[in-house]
Amino acid sequence: MFLSVFDMFKVGIGPSSSHTMGPMVAAARFLDKMRAAPFECAGVKGTLHGSLAFTGVGHATDRATILGLAGFLPETYDHDRAEAVMAQIRESHSISPEGLGTLHFNPKEDLLFDFGPNLPGHANGMVLMATDKQGDTILRETYFSIGGGFVMTEAELAAGRNTDEGEPVPYPFKSAAEMLQMCETSGKTIAQMKKANEISRQGETDMTAGVKRIWQVMNDCIERGMNTEGTLPGGLNVKRRAKGIRDALIAERGTNQNAPHKINDWMSVYAMAVNEENAAGGQVVTAPTNGAAGVVPAVIRYYLDHHPGASEDHVEDFLLTAAAIGGLVKFNASISGAEAGCQAEVGSAAAMGAAGLCAVMGGTPMQIENAAEIALEHHLGMTCDPVKGLVQVPCIERNGLGAIKAISAASLAMRGDGTHLVPLDACIETMRQTGADMMDKYKETSLGGLAVNVPNC
Ligand code: SF4
Repeated sequence: MFLSVFDMFKVGIGPSSSHTMGPMVAAARFLDKMRAAPFECAGVKGTLHGSLAFTGVGHATDRATILGLAGFLPETYDHDRAEAVMAQIRESHSISPEGLGTLHFNPKEDLLFDFGPNLPGHANGMVLMATDKQGDTILRETYFSIGGGFVMTEAELAAGRNTDEGEPVPYPFKSAAEMLQMCETSGKTIAQMKKANEISRQGETDMTAGVKRIWQVMNDCIERGMNTEGTLPGGLNVKRRAKGIRDALIAERGTNQNAPHKINDWMSVYAMAVNEENAAGGQVVTAPTNGAAGVVPAVIRYYLDHHPGASEDHVEDFLLTAAAIGGLVKFNASISGAEAGCQAEVGSAAAMGAAGLCAVMGGTPMQIENAAEIALEHHLGMTCDPVKGLVQVPCIERNGLGAIKAISAASLAMRGDGTHLVPLDACIETMRQTGADMMDKYKETSLGGLAVNVPNC
């Protein structure tokens, strides 16, 4: 199996990789299918199922699907143009994707939320259909948004996991045990093996430039979040806090209010800045998802701003190591809140962040595997219960706490020699089994947990 660093870290838009980016990508794939069809289509419509229906409004799934059908993509999303196109679609009841002419599409009638049982296969299902002039369906495809912006058709899901099965890579590890074994026999670090795998699929120059861009977008997102005030959209009236906390932390420097525990506030503020931007529909990088997008950037920023001897030159190793761990989690369990709860999102992100930090602090492969395991282990069982279906509460603070756990996990791992009782593979399998046993109301449906116990929501 091969999951590229650019599969784990994708530039996209908020608030959700599975509920916003995925549906937009699915719509783009359906447009390609329509373009390839040997007949002319006159209209398009769709239905959203399972978690995409239950929390679809809060996650802007309908808007993302419509914009996807209009030809928008997460990577090149332009907010102002999207607003103009949405207004035009509502007014004209038509949509004009490139190469397909003008298609009938009335957003109110042609994209429906289906609150019935989930489609068999996955909690995040959607069906897209093309119609002829009489309104009869002439083309149909079922897509599943499986987390982190990854999308599979019904047939792809039935055939197996969504991984690149192309040319073999030099270090094709499918488990943490295989990864450690390959480190030992090759004498390479996890980042070096991951880099060799990446370079076997693309030039080194492209890979290095791509990773640099990923960090640039992550860091820009932190900066925007730390410099923006106001109330987040969606009706919960959640106030942005990153800027206020950052300003207070700067003011407290050199005073007797600067207690040691306040370093935790820096870790939180970097993560919260990203997740506030995500909640506002801004540009973020999946890490491995949008809901968990704050953890990895926060850990990198903590490393660069607060760790002695840190260097931007090491960010590539950080991201490659984090991507290797994220790939193992995705391949062997899940990175989707709708599939396995928040342990799969913020838990996976914390494991990735812990591994990355341990690597750039000079950890051995065994210590890195230990760091990832500690971080994931202490997120096991965590449910996904976003209040009002918005990626705000508990998600924004949760990323801050995920970053703190990731950093503590890396630090703890560095205090040992890498030997430990619970292998990362066992922890990942435990997360998978726990997610499978978790009731649906705790898997991104907003039918349980905080979503039903917070008053006035
Ligand atoms: S609770 Fe966790 S998994 Fe659920 S939407 Fe929020 S960040 Fe994502």
